Amino acid sequence: MRVSTYPLIDADAAAALVLEHTPVLGMERVALAHCTGRVLAEDLVAQAPLPAFPSSAVDGYAVRAADAGKQLRVAGESAAGRPFHGRLTPGSAVRILTGGVLPDGADCVVMVEDVEEKGELVMVPTSLQPRANFHTPGADLRAGEKVLARGEELGPAELGLAAALGLPRLGVFRRPRVALMSTGDELVEVGEKPEPGQIVDSNRWALLAALREAGADVKGIGIGPDEPDALRRLVIDALRDVDVLVTSGGVSVGTHDLIKPLLESLGTVHVGRVKLKPGKPFTFATLPDGKLAFGLPGFPVSSLVTFEVFVRPALRKMQGHARLQRPTLPVRLGYDARATADRTEYQRVTLRREGKDFVAVSTGSQSSSRLMSLAGAHALVRIPPGDQGINAGTIVEAIILSLP
Ligand code: AMP
Ligand code: MG
Repeated sequence: MRVSTYPLIDADAAAALVLEHTPVLGMERVALAHCTGRVLAEDLVAQAPLPAFPSSAVDGYAVRAADAGKQLRVAGESAAGRPFHGRLTPGSAVRILTGGVLPDGADCVVMVEDVEEKGELVMVPTSLQPRANFHTPGADLRAGEKVLARGEELGPAELGLAAALGLPRLGVFRRPRVALMSTGDELVEVGEKPEPGQIVDSNRWALLAALREAGADVKGIGIGPDEPDALRRLVIDALRDVDVLVTSGGVSVGTHDLIKPLLESLGTVHVGRVKLKPGKPFTFATLPDGKLAFGLPGFPVSSLVTFEVFVRPALRKMQGHARLQRPTLPVRLGYDARATADRTEYQRVTLRREGKDFVAVSTGSQSSSRLMSLAGAHALVRIPPGDQGINAGTIVEAIILSLP
């Protein structure tokens, strides 16, 4: 029997080792339209107050609270973007529309619903509150105030804020450029008819989606052969303009498993075997110029689970994210789970809400070739190593992929 010479590393220790060797990428200036999901590499400070001027919150009349109960002459109009030029004098009112500048001399806005309009005259209520119905300058943000901190992720509200501050481009962490390659002489392209003994390369499409979802900019390399020299040339060429190499297949101990020795010859292999199910042959190496290589196992579920556990957190670290892991929740096992003696197992489940709890239901056979165990799964439940297994009803930790 062929045995691997790589030590079997604890799954958490392997994940920590990967992150330890993962750099945070540099900053680039990016237009707002392309900043969604990116992480700020610099603090954003308000250069001017927001709002910049007293602006009406309603449609109505800008008046002086001291003129409560009087009939006032309408001196003009202040619409959004078209201010009233001049000063509000005692005994007069200025028609104002939402977003219009409060004229000098006015100290409140009375809503149109609360006045009686008679031609060029308007009757205002007997009680008016100074400061009512308009936004004071700086109410939302004061000049000099820190608006967003380095490390914050940019979503709709953050991007709206950046635009409001007058910033068309933002300094964000670079996205990792990733070369993605499947390996194996048995593989054919999707859409081609497999001959006997051949299978369709499905990992590349699953991993392409997983990489993109994790924020990577992916360069597709196609299918690499099970031939050392050709594979080596392909990998060296692929590595030229990327930060990360992700391969699938070719990491177990069979004769045609060429990835480990190849990475060994190009850099340093830090992880060659993990106490993880599925995903025992997962391989991680650092390469010259701060590049990383992830050799994912060939079985489709193994490649995606090891992506979740090792690659996704690393890609998030590269992009400056503070939270590297997916959220986890304690869930109640809805089935008796068998454990693996010496490996942490991630079992694929759907979740069902029962009262205050989420109950985990197995997606069926957990074979590492059965993608149906992961399709539609809400979570990966973590079954620690052991001989006993875990009984239904026990609370276990689940990595949440999506909630039902
Ligand atoms: P390997 O790690 O190269 O020995 O691959 C293990 C098994 O995973 C192979 O026998 C295939 O059944 C499967 N496999 C490998 N690569 C792929 C791929 N790109 N797409 C789908 N299945 C694959
Ligand atoms: Mg193979």
